[in-house]
Amino acid sequence: MTVSAPHSAAQAGAGAARRRILVTSALPYANGQIHLGHMVEYIQTDIWVRAMRMHGHEIYYVGADDTHGTPIMLSAEKEGITPKQLIDRVWQEHTRDLSNFLVSFDNYYTTDSEENRALCGTIYGRLQEAGLIDAREIEQAYDPVKEMFLPDRFIKGECPKCGAKDQYGDSCEVCGSTYQPTDLVNPYSAISGAAPVRRKSTHYFFRLSDARCENFLRDWVSGLAQPEATNKMREWLGDAGEAKLGDWDISRDAPYFGFEIPGAPGKYFYVWLDAPVGYYASFKNLAAKRGLEFEEWIKPDSNTEQYHFIGKDILYFHTLFWPAMLEFAGYRTPTNVFAHGFLTVDGAKMSKSRGTFITANSFIETGLNPEWLRYYFAAKLNATMEDLDLNLEDFQARVNSDVVGKYVNIASRAAGFLFKRFDARVQDKAMQHPLLATLRAAIPAIAAHYEAREYGRAVRQSMELADAVNAYVDTAKPWDQAKDPANAALLHETVSVSLEAFRLLTIALKPVLPTLAAKVEAFLGIAPLAWDDAGVPLSSAQPINAYQHLMTRIDPKQIEALIAANRTSLQPTETGAAAAAASAAAGKAKKASTSAKEEATSETISIDDFAKIDLRVALIVDCKAVEGSDKLLQLTLDVGEEKTRNVFSGIKSAYLPEDLVGKLTVMVANLAPRKMKFGLSEGMVLAASSADEKAEPGLYILEPHSGAKPGMRVR
Ligand SMILES: [Zn+2]
Repeated sequence: MTVSAPHSAAQAGAGAARRRILVTSALPYANGQIHLGHMVEYIQTDIWVRAMRMHGHEIYYVGADDTHGTPIMLSAEKEGITPKQLIDRVWQEHTRDLSNFLVSFDNYYTTDSEENRALCGTIYGRLQEAGLIDAREIEQAYDPVKEMFLPDRFIKGECPKCGAKDQYGDSCEVCGSTYQPTDLVNPYSAISGAAPVRRKSTHYFFRLSDARCENFLRDWVSGLAQPEATNKMREWLGDAGEAKLGDWDISRDAPYFGFEIPGAPGKYFYVWLDAPVGYYASFKNLAAKRGLEFEEWIKPDSNTEQYHFIGKDILYFHTLFWPAMLEFAGYRTPTNVFAHGFLTVDGAKMSKSRGTFITANSFIETGLNPEWLRYYFAAKLNATMEDLDLNLEDFQARVNSDVVGKYVNIASRAAGFLFKRFDARVQDKAMQHPLLATLRAAIPAIAAHYEAREYGRAVRQSMELADAVNAYVDTAKPWDQAKDPANAALLHETVSVSLEAFRLLTIALKPVLPTLAAKVEAFLGIAPLAWDDAGVPLSSAQPINAYQHLMTRIDPKQIEALIAANRTSLQPTETGAAAAAASAAAGKAKKASTSAKEEATSETISIDDFAKIDLRVALIVDCKAVEGSDKLLQLTLDVGEEKTRNVFSGIKSAYLPEDLVGKLTVMVANLAPRKMKFGLSEGMVLAASSADEKAEPGLYILEPHSGAKPGMRVR
């Protein structure tokens, strides 16, 4: 089974000619943290890329941060930094998260690059030469105070239907009706608060409605791999003669963070024009570093393949604008576009208040293994655009039972016997066992499932094979065989078959579990595994190494901590650095509650920085000494939530537990939970102490004036 590759692609099945493939994931916007919703796509793409690398193809996987546009400009302004400073910082955070989840980009770049500027200029120039760019005067909302044109999402006002205040320009969150920004009653700019005025401006348009574009797209759509995508495109294209495609406004007025349009001072490329070009810019940057012939890859008759993995929400940009831009700028067009669905958590949209809006970084910081998530996503991913649910209970159960219970367990059961009793060497004739022949025969089908993006099938088939191996071990009973020296040869066979089966299963799961596979390769003393290695069994010539623990089970407490870490009342625009600033600030407060030595003056922070710390009035419902600790008290706090919070505080020297019960205090409610020796601490109470504890001992927890209620915010 191969991916349909109808557009100027050199078709070659597994084991055939070496293919040349360029792969991208959509570019994350440089205005926030990467969360598990993003991770679906990076993990999906990475698994595909790794599976194709295991065939030995020449494949490059590139990405970049999407850095331009009004939201980034305004975010930077709000933080009092330049857009460049903002996108540099976010790039660091994004690359950290992607690499933590083992996403193996060959190049991760930025759209704010000179390569991208030059490519956008070239493409625009060629579209202009082809007569596909129009300049037109349009009327738009303008903020007279901020002196800028307002994108729809920056206009607010009263809902024309129900009268709800502070609604966005496109839809009402109260009654759900949709409308035009011009329909809003008493509209105002979300930036300055001023009433917008109508103002004219010249904009540039890509003439997608041109018959050439339509004809080209009608032809191009026939090669799309996903029927849902084809249907969507047919809907957008309409019937021949219907002329449904509209022209695309590709310019924005200054002030705008982006590339100025050549020959049009004060006009900038709309961020959605330069973002996909950023794929090529990243590849060009890589090509320069690796000595690849960039032009060879992107010319129209190129024998390379080009695939874009995206979310279904940006299909329009990738199946209409992007291929049409490429076609009429004289480049090759995408071989295919692969769209996936959205992530839900426990059956619902990710939610900050429920703690299910899970950032990639919190997952790592909580100590969860990224390969657990890779496995779970893989088990649920297929080639369609269906949404995917991360059910946290199922996640634990499946990882623990499949990866640890079924797969890793095979090695841990066999390795000890082989190592101790058989000089760490397999029995060569055992490699001919029929069970192994079954496994070897299944490997090409599993490889094909990966290529067809049917990872769920690949994983399911692998686990069925693991079941067969475990059944074999259960029947052979090596632990019984080991009791009688007369059975040595039989035992040797059993553990040799087990380990070779484990090696074959490792090949099958390697695209999903690359770090685990690397550990297995080291343990077995073999070179990095590829698909073809299915036919190269373990040999007595190569002793295995001592078995090292390969993977632990998920502890349910880790999931609790993950949810707690993501439960927040922060602004949705909060960035990683802001969270870091909040936890740094919280770190300082923590010192104050125990034994602060440095106290002098802290650096100045803005009111926004302060607002990141969610301080709440808390009722001490219960308080106990902690057995085994001479510093800590365990507090049960009511902060107006459904559940109470458990907090450990180093205040035992100053308070008797019974004296605190029933008192109000102040806690940091959005501090990342900390796993301590005695349990999970879900926040921190505030206490004052002297800078020099020795000279002036004493700890004083804060208490609000009477009248304050649990859950009230301190600001
Ligand atoms: Zn309404």
